[in-house]
Amino acid sequence: MPNHDLEQNDTSSRSSTRRIRLPFFCMQVSFTAVSLDATIAYAHIHRSTEIFVNSIVGSIGNASPLIANASPMIDPFGRAVTYLRVSVTDRCDFRCTYCMAENMTFLPKKDLLTLEELNRLCSAFIAKGVRRIRLTGGEPLVRKNIMFLVRELGRHVMAGTLDELTITTNGSQLARHAQELYDCGVRRINVSLDTLDADKFHAITRWGDMSKVMEGIEAAQKAGLKVKLNTVALKDFNEAEMPEILRFAHGRGMDLTVIETMPMGEIDEDRTHQYLPLSKLRADLEKQFTLTESTYATGGPARYVTVAETGGRLGFITPLTHNFCESCNRVRVTCTGTLYMCLGQNDAADLRSALRACEDNALVYAAIDEAITRKPRGHDFIIDRTHNRPAVARHMSVTGG
Ligand code: SAM
Ligand code: SF4
Repeated sequence: MPNHDLEQNDTSSRSSTRRIRLPFFCMQVSFTAVSLDATIAYAHIHRSTEIFVNSIVGSIGNASPLIANASPMIDPFGRAVTYLRVSVTDRCDFRCTYCMAENMTFLPKKDLLTLEELNRLCSAFIAKGVRRIRLTGGEPLVRKNIMFLVRELGRHVMAGTLDELTITTNGSQLARHAQELYDCGVRRINVSLDTLDADKFHAITRWGDMSKVMEGIEAAQKAGLKVKLNTVALKDFNEAEMPEILRFAHGRGMDLTVIETMPMGEIDEDRTHQYLPLSKLRADLEKQFTLTESTYATGGPARYVTVAETGGRLGFITPLTHNFCESCNRVRVTCTGTLYMCLGQNDAADLRSALRACEDNALVYAAIDEAITRKPRGHDFIIDRTHNRPAVARHMSVTGG
């Protein structure tokens, strides 16, 4: 199969795992080979995944067929998992102060799934009931040849096997990709923008140029993409600017979602200095605007209100002041094929080994099924002076927002 991911042409990542060519009936006739290979592949991954491998070996011993199929993913709390977020790279051309430290160590390229592998993994999730996929990062549009993956996933949208393909971007590269995104079947995108002041923008992103983002938003709207703005609420940074950002977004036909900072990964600052509870932000906005609860939902975690004065929608993502977990339908896959069942927890499952162990998807399905049994009820982020350490060590750019 051609490798469309020129960044990942390095074959060392593939050769580290012995590939077995197994036909579609591999689970029936090749258990011994799979068990050996799977045992090697899983030797250094999570404890619970080891249990899963043991269960494969156990089922072989009993000569009973392994139950691994593309059945729907229902977690222990009865929630159906239908939404997949895929972080296609942990790299970014910005260094937003709340997201990353200035000097970041990124994953070696050899550890990344190729774009073909990411496509195969996404297709496996679609077969298991995922109806929405959001590509994120890091900055998804800085991954070389990312449009290959967008095109491939867009085919599922055209075929009706996927309801929606979306992307969250910082907008820096959007102008040159907007039309193609639309042509591939993308209809909605999220663009992150924390201020309308070019100097403040440069300060918060460390490296960003706001005019490029504005060009990107314009190009996206011209191409027919529905744009939503994402703004992280930051104390003493954009708190006073929120009414202006709201009018800017709604004046251009864009919804706005405000997000509380989440304690993910070490950054160069003290997070307690940045944290602005959205309950306070909302109370401040209500002094100027009439906010009415809305039943509008996009499948994501935001709760929406309509703003009478602008006629637009305002979403709140409140992981800290108001836990949004009870209706969680999401899982996240990173660019190395690690599956996180919760944004705010460390537990994970390695899908890369399963993906590379067999060209058939049976092992991938089984690994996903096992992981879904571990999806927790929710996270418990806390930011205050006594809990001033990241709740999870990885940065948001690893699992995507
Ligand atoms: N680079 C793209 C972007 O900025 O839109 C996509 C990835 S970024 C990690 C996704 C979203 O997460 C952005 O809206 C960003 O502002 C938000 N984000 C990043 N770090 C965050 C944090 N610690 N707390 C809350 N939101 C965060
Ligand atoms: Fe990059 Fe997005 Fe993180 Fe900013 S929020 S550093 S743009 S990944």
